[in-house]
Amino acid sequence: HPAIARVGALLKTSALVGGHWLAHATRFEVRDPANGQLLAEVSNLDAHEADRAINIAANALPVWRNSTANERSAILRRWYELILEHRETLAVLITAEQGKPLAEARGEVVYAASFVEWFAEEARRIYGDIIPSPSNDRRALVLRQAIGVCAAITPWNFPAAMLTRKIAPALAAGCTILLKPAEQTPLTALALADLAMQAGMPAGVFNVLTADGRNSVAIGKRLCEHPQVRHLSFTGSTEVGRLLMAQCAPTLKRMSLELGGNAPFIVFDDADIDAAVDGALFAKYRNAGQTCVCANRFIVQAGVHDEFVARLAERSAQIRVGHGFEEGVQQGPLIDDVAVAKFMHHLDDARRKGARLHVGGVAPKGRFVAPTVLSQVNTDMLVAREETFGPLSAVMKFSDEEEAIALANASESGLAAYFYTRDISRVWRMAEALECGMVGINTGAISYASMPFGGVKQSGFGREGSRYGIDEYVDLKYLCMAGL
Ligand code: ADP
Repeated sequence: HPAIARVGALLKTSALVGGHWLAHATRFEVRDPANGQLLAEVSNLDAHEADRAINIAANALPVWRNSTANERSAILRRWYELILEHRETLAVLITAEQGKPLAEARGEVVYAASFVEWFAEEARRIYGDIIPSPSNDRRALVLRQAIGVCAAITPWNFPAAMLTRKIAPALAAGCTILLKPAEQTPLTALALADLAMQAGMPAGVFNVLTADGRNSVAIGKRLCEHPQVRHLSFTGSTEVGRLLMAQCAPTLKRMSLELGGNAPFIVFDDADIDAAVDGALFAKYRNAGQTCVCANRFIVQAGVHDEFVARLAERSAQIRVGHGFEEGVQQGPLIDDVAVAKFMHHLDDARRKGARLHVGGVAPKGRFVAPTVLSQVNTDMLVAREETFGPLSAVMKFSDEEEAIALANASESGLAAYFYTRDISRVWRMAEALECGMVGINTGAISYASMPFGGVKQSGFGREGSRYGIDEYVDLKYLCMAGL
């Protein structure tokens, strides 16, 4: 594959366990989603090797946990700098194995690095508390201590950012880590791990268990069931999240789950329509619609509905679809054939039930699908009920605010929501009424390392990024000192 020649020494195809690259005899293929071309063959670990790695991470824990905050901060800071120095190479890897346009991949590298920078700083601010005592002979303190060995299972849609926002806070807190990256995108994960080693990460602190889809299930089970693993962080589908939670129940692991979304994007009659259309394009089509905070349901008030749909359709038609390495391409392929089939299934279902097609809707070319806009969508249609995870804009019409809230909240998911209005009272009413973890008000772009990312309802629990992100990786310990 032509991209591989541009990667050089950052191309790693072995798992990383205990500071050693584990060149395994059994391997699995990683392919370019755009054309199926082979990129590399990567070590395919099994559950037995996961067990070994868990022991190694447990042995590495005492030293890392007892390192000073400054020491951990300095290594994270160096890792951050190395990620930025290798921005171009990492972006090439992301485009090659995930498909997003190179410009977008460059943006992801910067976004991924920002979590490492943020938690390099937060490492120094893991403060405890002193609580006013109930009696004079005693004093009460609270320590915040590293939770222990942590496991992270990450998805393919952001091969770099989904990784750093789990790994960086865990390392900052003093935890050791077992990462199982998505089978579609292990190369970015391994390159990032290599940079972490270059930054001075001690052996065994950050381990990467690569595996194909089948072995991932077995490794996932071991990570869930092993008593030495104290925390599991997962980003992926709600269905797999439920399974992992059930598997973690016998050992009562702490968990952070970032699961599917079904974000409503509401446009009121009083909105700035130019801004709403810009925001809609970003929130819908970024990463070809394959993000968990992508707008999945456009809910538009009757007075601006037709204008909004017309302008969204016009702009959607201008999006250039192609291979992520081609100059000027704005949308790459979907990740695999299953994703294309789901997109087509949602589209066909909606059209059969009466949705009107404005643009797109043509037969896919391989894994490339055209940005598509539908109106007259209703809640009987799959597009309104499930996350499409593709460039399909489904528009519903509403008449009053109460109806908009009811439509927006009629979902088992509660990750992101967006709305556009210029009425300040309505801003507060809506912001408080929406059942979700994140709200974009007059914007479609909400993700920053300094802000808490996460959901409610069946989108999961726990927060990534922000000062709250450390909380996932520490235990509180209350000290009661008496006899003073
Ligand atoms: P997606 O639909 O985004 O591919 P998945 O939830 O299937 O989401 O996958 C996200 C991550 O979970 C990947 O790293 C994948 O290998 C892993 N995974 C999938 N199924 C399981 C499972 N049964 N046990 C553990 N990990 C799994």
